[in-house]
Formats: sequence, structure tokens, C-alpha cells
Amino acid sequence: MTQVYLQNNKNPINISNIFCIGRNYAAHAAEMGSAPTETPMVFLKPTSAIATEKSPILLPQFSVEVHYETELVVLIGKGGKNITESDALKHVAGYAIGLDLTARDLQSQAKAKGHPWLLSKGFDNSACVSQFIAPDAIPNPNDLHFSMELNGKLVQEGNTQLMLFSVPTLIHFLSRVFTLNEGDLIFTGTPEGVGPLHSGDRIHLSLANKLHADFNVA
Ligand code: MG
Repeated sequence: MTQVYLQNNKNPINISNIFCIGRNYAAHAAEMGSAPTETPMVFLKPTSAIATEKSPILLPQFSVEVHYETELVVLIGKGGKNITESDALKHVAGYAIGLDLTARDLQSQAKAKGHPWLLSKGFDNSACVSQFIAPDAIPNPNDLHFSMELNGKLVQEGNTQLMLFSVPTLIHFLSRVFTLNEGDLIFTGTPEGVGPLHSGDRIHLSLANKLHADFNVA
């Protein structure tokens, strides 16, 4: 599954690269015992990690501690290189609410050994995304409230105002290193309140009261 959809649009969008930002909210960095970084911390997920609401989330068998991380997800429309911050939002085709699922046990081992995070971050179903909403419905991505309910209880709540690196800054930063392409996604980091998922869990995500998504854990 490497295609996603804009709300009210039947044309699928093929996903290209999936960029993810770590430690982009100070309170989450603190709960992980980590210091914020001076420049964005970037990692990738493979396109095979994409999951949508249509299918239940299958937790990987090689982890006993898979955590949810609720994040604003940015879809790149027009590609580019060396995009300025002032031009950055012109390159956005949509916004979604998503989950950067993380095998926290494997990630802790990787951190201790100084190894890459890919196995703990890139497994199947680890990049859950709602439908995407067009940017004209999101006038200010720098002031977006979002939340996650787990089995009917609020567990995560954030506002993009609290990002250490804003959406325009992230697009600018990434495009200096990587040529951005139509269909690239950026998972922009999670606020505090991450925690474990279990079989049978029901997840409800919302973005600015405009976009809602439900996922079930198999
Ligand atoms: Mg994350």
C-alpha cells in the first residue's frame, strides 16, 4: 500500500519518500530523556510502512513494546531543491494526522548501541495516515491542534505552535539535503504522552476538528 488520498478526491497519490522528524517537541524529548537537537533529527521509513484506516494495524511479532506517536503529516505536492522558508508552504499538497509507530524496545537497544533506528521505526504498518486535507482548509499549519484517543480516553494532545522546527523550516531544511518530490511525506514529530499499544485497541485521531481517523489494532 503506497497510495494515499486527498479528501473528496478519488485520484490516488503515490507515496515517494517518508521523512520523519524526531524530538520536535521539547516535552516529548524530555519524556524520552533526550535533549532537543540544534538541527532537525531526520530518519526515514520505507513506503511499505504505510497503513490507512482501511486495514487493522498488525503489531510486529519481534517487539513487545510498540508505542503510538501522534503526528501532523505533511504531503509534498510540488517538488524542489533548496526551497526557502517563505516559499515552503507552496510545496504542500495536503495535511493528515498520523501515527509514527515505534518499537520502543528495539529503539532503546539501537540507541544504546549507536545503531540506526530503521528496524524500530520502519516495520509494516508503522506509518499510519488518515486521509489528507487540502492546504486551503488549513490556513495556518503553525497553529494546529491535534489529539489521539485510545479506547475512548484522551492520551495525546498537541499544537504545532510547540514544534521546535516549524513546517516551513522542515521543508527548507530537508530540501537542502534531499530533492523533494511530489508524494513525499513528512512526519513532523510527536508531543508528549506516547505509550504502548495492545491487541484490540481502538484509536481515534483528530486534526483541528477538521479531520478524523479511526484505526484498530488487530
Ligand atoms: Mg515520531
